[in-house]
Amino acid sequence: MVPPVTFTLDFEDLRTSPTQESRIEYATSRILDRLAELDIRGTIFCVAEDAAQEPQLLRRMTELGHEIAVHGFQHIPIDLLGQPRFSEQTIRAKEMLEDLSGQEISGFRAPQFSIVPETRWAVDVLAEVGFTYSSSILPVATLMYGWPGTPTTPFRWPQGIVEIPCPVVRFMGVTIPYLGGAYMRVLPSLVRRRGMRTADPSSVLWTYCHPWEFDPDEPFYVYEHGGWLVSRIGWINRGGMLARVEQSLRAASGPPLREVVAGLSDLPVFDPEGSSSRHVPLQGRLRRKADA
Ligand SMILES: [Zn+2]
Repeated sequence: MVPPVTFTLDFEDLRTSPTQESRIEYATSRILDRLAELDIRGTIFCVAEDAAQEPQLLRRMTELGHEIAVHGFQHIPIDLLGQPRFSEQTIRAKEMLEDLSGQEISGFRAPQFSIVPETRWAVDVLAEVGFTYSSSILPVATLMYGWPGTPTTPFRWPQGIVEIPCPVVRFMGVTIPYLGGAYMRVLPSLVRRRGMRTADPSSVLWTYCHPWEFDPDEPFYVYEHGGWLVSRIGWINRGGMLARVEQSLRAASGPPLREVVAGLSDLPVFDPEGSSSRHVPLQGRLRRKADA
């Protein structure tokens, strides 16, 4: 039996200049309309600064029953922010999104899944700011971020926060994400079906996507934190994304992640300080070498 899949969207505007045409309302409305027809509620992780530009969209998301969660104040990976700015921006993003949506916010997703060994201090910040859960770990190595060795099923950090890692599948000898982003647009559908069919019973499955993935006609530009190749991949098969997301949710759709997390109990604790997957940050490695 295929486990339920929760819809999640990362609401972000990747335009590099305000002079570019804004298409985020059009693209977001396409997926919100379809979810409303299917009577599906999910979790929308919002970049606070982008959400503030579209208050009517935030109101519509809330009216449709979607959970609003944080995807940063701006769309900047955590390692580029550093700890003081991450703390300050995360507090600000949570407060701003609570004001805009009228919801109490409990969920966080790092831009580009950028909680990795070197930024594990971010979990301390999330606990201090009052989040209940995070959805920020990609438990495999990728060209960008990823933390191989972390559990692939939900777990609890020592700080008490629940982590709902990105679903992955073993295929042709490698373990890869399959329910979102470029992986969902590029890989054949059989990979997705296999992932859902073979998922561990204790998994929490969720799709992840972005407004721009429902906008095949957007003129091409190079993303700020991407480069030409990554940006080019962002335009592949946008025309097929809506149908693929819908296919993933059709068998059984799960509720917003906040409700999923409320129903979880007896989760294993993952302590990165006691794990063999721990990476010593570069600075630390150099310091120890100098000490030796
Ligand atoms: Zn993002």
